[in-house]
Amino acid sequence: MTVKKMYEMDTYLFESEAVVTALGEEEGKKFFQLDQSIFYPQGGGQPSDTGTIHFDAKEASVDFVAKDGEEIRHYFSGEPPAIGEVVELVVDQKNRLENANSHSAGHLLASIVEGSFSTMKAVKGYHFPNGSYIEFEGQLEVEKEEAIALVNQKLCQAISSKWPVEISEMGGVRQIAMGPFPSVACGGTHVANLEQIGRVVVTKVKRKKGRIRFSY
Ligand SMILES: [Zn+2]
Repeated sequence: MTVKKMYEMDTYLFESEAVVTALGEEEGKKFFQLDQSIFYPQGGGQPSDTGTIHFDAKEASVDFVAKDGEEIRHYFSGEPPAIGEVVELVVDQKNRLENANSHSAGHLLASIVEGSFSTMKAVKGYHFPNGSYIEFEGQLEVEKEEAIALVNQKLCQAISSKWPVEISEMGGVRQIAMGPFPSVACGGTHVANLEQIGRVVVTKVKRKKGRIRFSY
């Protein structure tokens, strides 16, 4: 059975029900699997969702969520649910929104840098709270300071334009489109409108092992 990835359909769905389909343990850590989940499994440079599940007047906390092939493992502490049991899922909203904001800001930054410098191509994204960045291959045709100023101005412009973030599917691959920027394949959680990102500032540009890293 393949888990239905509800987090792909709605970033703002923080509560839902699901049926427990399997229980397991790996290296002393207990996990359960569900028929459908609103918990984002860590991946693609985006941290795991956290939260709680409630069932039969009991509670367990979901500490880490990871992909396992076509399934999702919810590593938990507290009372174990039973296989076949209907449980109520609650995602930590603050954590989810911070992750969706940071991840969406990374897409925007990648699109702006690629659009501003013809040879630059985003090759890696890291959207954790302890220092987010996007790494590019290619050449910066200007000084770092000039690049930072230009990119920050375009970030500000794009966010204040309140462009929507649209999700579509092409050949079975989920596509994300932000305003006028080219769409990209991605399975992460995104804001519905660039306005929700708030404010993003590139703080540092650094050359690292043949790549150029933009920290934000
Ligand atoms: Zn994404």
